[in-house]
Amino acid sequence: MKSFAWPDQCQERLRAANIDVQGNTFRRTPFSLSHGGDDPCFFIMQPISYLTATGRSQLWLRLRRAAWTVEDGFGEVQLVGTHTDGGDGPVDILVVGGGANGCAIARDAAGRGLSVVLCEAGDLAGATSSNSSKLIHGGLRYLEHYAFRLVRESLAEREVLLATAPHIIYPLRFVLPHHKGLRPAWFLRLGLFLYDHIGGRRTLPATRGVDLRKGSRGAPLKSSFVKGFEYSDAWTDDARMVVLAAVDAAERGARILTRTRLISARREGKLWRAVLRTRDGAEETVFARALVNAAGPWVGVVARLLGVNTEGSVKLVKGSHIVLPKLYEGDHAYTLQSADGRVIFAIPYEGRFTLVGTTDVPLEGDPGPVSASPEEIGYLCAALGDYFDRRVTPDQVVWTYAGVRPLYDDGKANASAVTRDYVLDLETPPDAAALLTIYGGKITTFRELGERALDLLKAPLGLKAGAWTRTAPLPGGDLKGGFEAFRQAVAEQRPWLSGPTLTRLCRAYGSRLDIVLGDAQSWADMGRDYGAGLTQGEIDYLKRYEWARSADDVLWRRTKLGLHMTPAERTGVATAFAAAEMTEA
Ligand SMILES: Cc1cc2nc3c(=O)[nH]c(=O)nc-3n(C[C@H](O)[C@H](O)[C@H](O)COP(=O)(O)OP(=O)(O)OC[C@H]3O[C@@H](n4cnc5c(N)ncnc54)[C@H](O)[C@@H]3O)c2cc1C
Repeated sequence: MKSFAWPDQCQERLRAANIDVQGNTFRRTPFSLSHGGDDPCFFIMQPISYLTATGRSQLWLRLRRAAWTVEDGFGEVQLVGTHTDGGDGPVDILVVGGGANGCAIARDAAGRGLSVVLCEAGDLAGATSSNSSKLIHGGLRYLEHYAFRLVRESLAEREVLLATAPHIIYPLRFVLPHHKGLRPAWFLRLGLFLYDHIGGRRTLPATRGVDLRKGSRGAPLKSSFVKGFEYSDAWTDDARMVVLAAVDAAERGARILTRTRLISARREGKLWRAVLRTRDGAEETVFARALVNAAGPWVGVVARLLGVNTEGSVKLVKGSHIVLPKLYEGDHAYTLQSADGRVIFAIPYEGRFTLVGTTDVPLEGDPGPVSASPEEIGYLCAALGDYFDRRVTPDQVVWTYAGVRPLYDDGKANASAVTRDYVLDLETPPDAAALLTIYGGKITTFRELGERALDLLKAPLGLKAGAWTRTAPLPGGDLKGGFEAFRQAVAEQRPWLSGPTLTRLCRAYGSRLDIVLGDAQSWADMGRDYGAGLTQGEIDYLKRYEWARSADDVLWRRTKLGLHMTPAERTGVATAFAAAEMTEA
């Protein structure tokens, strides 16, 4: 065991937290510590809550850039060794890309005791991973393409995610109207039967037939739709899901560098020598034993930086969504078949809106920023017009967003038919550093992809630790009695919170809400109110714990409050960020 002399400043902070330090051993009395600040003695202490693969709980301390693994004994906590050398020495893994896949890999790796650096050129989930349809699903439609394994594994993963992140992932019922000119009813029934049974559905209700002439399900639809089916899937806040994976990774020792781009990398024997550049131009060289290219749509661009040819391996397909004022009452979604063989989803969104998507538009060349085109908006409005009684026109659209699917190119010409499965390509040349390239994937399978990636890297990194994320809650997801009981408890403890804001905060932060709210006794204690329920207290939390660096990070990714604010309120948030940046500079 490595002996460690705690710096004086740390000793003081440990004592202040009722932790009695004697050499490597320190006793803890019941405590609940929040994260430390950015001082040289920065350390993170979580209430001892992480169960490792061996069933032991772990406490993580971070001192400067060194992470120390501490195992929980009988009322004593013992330092068992260093986790990373923390200085300028090599790390085990450099992950390029802070989308769903990169963050899942960083989390899994850090939890297995590896030292990890993740660099993200922009904001976490700033690209594809905040622009999805936000469904945790098997993909009913993929059954038509005989993708049975993908559907089965995704449905099994749906159960895992529902259990480990009940705050941000929850069940959603879908109504699928039978359209007389399209797929026959027996075909839909058969598909849904398979969907119900191949993925080990445990908690979600089964499919049932619905008479659309009666009740709320058929109410907003044209009278020509008389029968349909109702089935289960799940919904998530995609951007939060990614950020929470990054939070977990960081608390297990990973360095998460946002606004930091990989600009070059080359192998030097058994190590990668990678140069990262921050937005203000500062450069840092990182040496890593393995490099993971999780750059999503930019996987080919990053591969070229690494001198690897990925020509023909990735197919970029843009998908757009529109947001409309609420189209119908009820908390169910609709799955609408369109005449071109695709399906469009209409999903209740943010209380007052309906989210509609998506499209499949093949892209050529390197992906830049994308947006919904007038044709795509028109296409989605027309699809709604085929089903809904009320007329939907592009001028009713209040917001749009678009993302690029980095699909693995399986040679299919039709963009809708290209596989949504992922491919992990591991390159381990003799006596040279390992490279793992990620193609494709879905947010639904992000955790599982992370697990498989680490299983693959086990051999080249000589890693012993096994998989652990299947039962580990995402931060805030440890809600023992379920989400509703948690919401009730918060409502009782903080009677000054209520209605949609209470629900939003409980959903976004789960059991971490206590850290967000701190010792606030009233709404006023949360500081400046920017509108739509966003306070300075929440912004401070997002800056400190979730890498929020701009108004967009807060308004459109960590939350969707941008949708609920007036332009003046949004400007207020942007101005406050700019002012804070000037003060910090
Ligand atoms: C329209 C649409 C709808 C979808 N709907 C669903 C759905 O409902 N359910 C589902 O399961 N899946 C869905 N998906 C798929 C899912 O969103 C993607 O598979 C997933 O988000 C891809 O994540 P990623 O990490 O590979 O890519 P990204 O999220 O794009 O992350 C890649 C990151 O790499 C960064 N990067 C690039 N170059 C560099 C560099 N040089 N240095 C540092 N960082 C770099 C980028 O900034 C980016 O943030 C949908 C996708 C789209 C487009």
